[in-house]
Amino acid sequence: MVTLKEALALDESALEALREEIKTNVANDKELNAYIDLSQSGSGIPIAIKDNIQVKGWSVTSASKILQGYIAPYNASVIEKLEKANLSPFGRTNMDEFAMGSTTESSCYGPTLNPLKRDCVPGGSSGGSAAVVAAGIAVAALGSDTGGSIRQPAAYCGVVGMKPTYGRVSRYGLGAYASSLDQIGPITQNVEDAAILLDIISGSDEKDSTCASLEPTAIAKNIDSDRKLTIAIIPDFIKDASDDVKVAYTKAIDTLKSAGHTIVEKAMMDPKFDISAYYVTATAEATTNLARYDGVRYGTRVEDGSLVNSYFKTRSEGFGDEVKRRILLGNFVLSSGYYDAYYVKAQKVRTLIKAEYNKLFNEVDLILSPVAPSVAPKQGEMEDPMAMYLSDIYTISVNLAGLPAISLPIMKNKDGLSVGLQLIANAYEEQTLFDGASSLEKSL
Ligand code: GLN
Repeated sequence: MVTLKEALALDESALEALREEIKTNVANDKELNAYIDLSQSGSGIPIAIKDNIQVKGWSVTSASKILQGYIAPYNASVIEKLEKANLSPFGRTNMDEFAMGSTTESSCYGPTLNPLKRDCVPGGSSGGSAAVVAAGIAVAALGSDTGGSIRQPAAYCGVVGMKPTYGRVSRYGLGAYASSLDQIGPITQNVEDAAILLDIISGSDEKDSTCASLEPTAIAKNIDSDRKLTIAIIPDFIKDASDDVKVAYTKAIDTLKSAGHTIVEKAMMDPKFDISAYYVTATAEATTNLARYDGVRYGTRVEDGSLVNSYFKTRSEGFGDEVKRRILLGNFVLSSGYYDAYYVKAQKVRTLIKAEYNKLFNEVDLILSPVAPSVAPKQGEMEDPMAMYLSDIYTISVNLAGLPAISLPIMKNKDGLSVGLQLIANAYEEQTLFDGASSLEKSL
């Protein structure tokens, strides 16, 4: 597949041929199930879009039964920005229902397979977006990352996934999961393409008051992979990771050192606290955001006598098990009597996490960390929700602190599965992030 950089040089007829090629390849491989459909809008460079980002006139469902029949009445701001740059939404990609999950198995459209090894999951929740890039059936894709949903599927599928600083990219038109954590970002074939796509989708937006009043980034043309950086590693973090991840971590450290970067060992708070703070915060916000799906205003409605009964029935039949579990948990942590013990406590932990990162970034430019504790698990293996939540241990503090991070492939294990690692930067230091990521990618 042509890279985004290469595609920028193609003329209209070449782009038309590219879209036809993708259509043929998708039709020949239905089993992968990474695209929900091949909706098309415009004749520019085709970019795959996660099914929680609104493209005017397209069905958008967050892979949920409850949103069947809903048609987006307007474009998300990122879509407007794509179109201005002659990039065109092409294909809705599969995901975990309402972006809640780490495997893309909770989609109402059925699971997506990992293109590297089909009996394994592609990761989630942006599993479809990572899989289409990895399978060579997309130039690049957009995903969303609330607690790792861009970085982790990118790591499992062997592609690049970037989560911008909170506020760098408008969330207008993104189906909200946890509004204080969600961010749209690129999934691409390489680091430079991720920078190109970030440059296109970033920048202020009057329609999203949490979007920073900043110019779009201009990173791609300024990437300096020769810049020498100070990069922290957290040895305590790696202890519970699988052998594959440990080998990749050592390899990345050696590579960074030989590229002239300074590696320093640091300690951070036990990440088990990140999990608790995240799952309280995310479910509380999700409960509130998902209250709007009542069968009256959006998508599916299941009539059952009275209005209240119709609410019950619509929500009971429309939401899947994982979404219901989180609505229950979110209501619990927000209920009177538990609010202080759980929700308020989680916000305090969140502040501590942010403070710890602030301190660290006074001393270093970047942090190198695993993305997931292991390579992609087998389909069906992550049945226990608790085990799935624990697998988010390396990604969620980045969202709690609002920081930018990029996941890139480091090596393949003996089964051909990819191990990705992430670099994390201070807020709005995306240039530094890409300088480091580009140096690591080049030196590997
Ligand atoms: N796996 C995490 C969750 O289920 C993160 C999901 C995401 O980033 N959207 O909440």
